[in-house]
Amino acid sequence: MRVTMLMYHMIAVPENAAEARFCRTPEAFRKDMQQIRQAGYQVVSLATVLDGVADRSALPDKAVAITFDDGVACAYENALPILQEFGYPASVFVVSSGVGGYNDWGKVFGFPRRRMLTACEIRALAGSGVDIGSHTVNHLWLGRTGKTAVTNEIRDSKAALEDILGREVPHFAYPFGSWSPMARNVVIEAGHTGACSTMSGQNRKGADPYLLRRSEIMGSDAPWQFRLKLRFATNEMPPVSDVRRLARQTLEKMRLISPRATDH
Ligand SMILES: [Zn+2]
Repeated sequence: MRVTMLMYHMIAVPENAAEARFCRTPEAFRKDMQQIRQAGYQVVSLATVLDGVADRSALPDKAVAITFDDGVACAYENALPILQEFGYPASVFVVSSGVGGYNDWGKVFGFPRRRMLTACEIRALAGSGVDIGSHTVNHLWLGRTGKTAVTNEIRDSKAALEDILGREVPHFAYPFGSWSPMARNVVIEAGHTGACSTMSGQNRKGADPYLLRRSEIMGSDAPWQFRLKLRFATNEMPPVSDVRRLARQTLEKMRLISPRATDH
């Protein structure tokens, strides 16, 4: 078995160049969901992925999971209606200090100010079957942070979200994909059952449940790039010119086309 996990950030029209990579428009997101269906994939929850990698239950042959990092309000306003249209489960990883406020932690990256999910919206998402996970308190680079701060970031965000939901929050995602063996241990000790990294690749039986792999869907990804990510769970997309050149070289080698005349 192998399962691809997709990572989105915002489902919204970008307001400036700094956040363009992280904004998938609602139209592009709906097309992604259509492609998942047309390609015959079954969308599974993160809990199902964790059961699959631990060999507690079998996963469908073509399985994909959908995740959103950060907890910007567009997860409720724009992503949820489309997910409901398709009946797909998903996970949303929330930066707990942002709840009911703004994405102030993104200011240093030049991100425009965006509204974050409110407690009410988080409860509504959970009530609609969306899995709410934790994404630290302040969106820190855990791999570069000392143990006391790492522990507070992980434990306090889990507790804050559990207060809002009145239930366990068993899943976690490392901000910036930044982790260390120490941070991974703190995630485990805090009582999580699984955590998502930003390393690309598919998740197979026996994979580390605390370093699940995800493929990032970027704002600029064309439909063919989305298809490749869905199929191969890769993040590194060659530019179109490289793909053409490789295709030409292959066809030349196979003598299916004559070599292109080159200038000397
Ligand atoms: Zn994040």
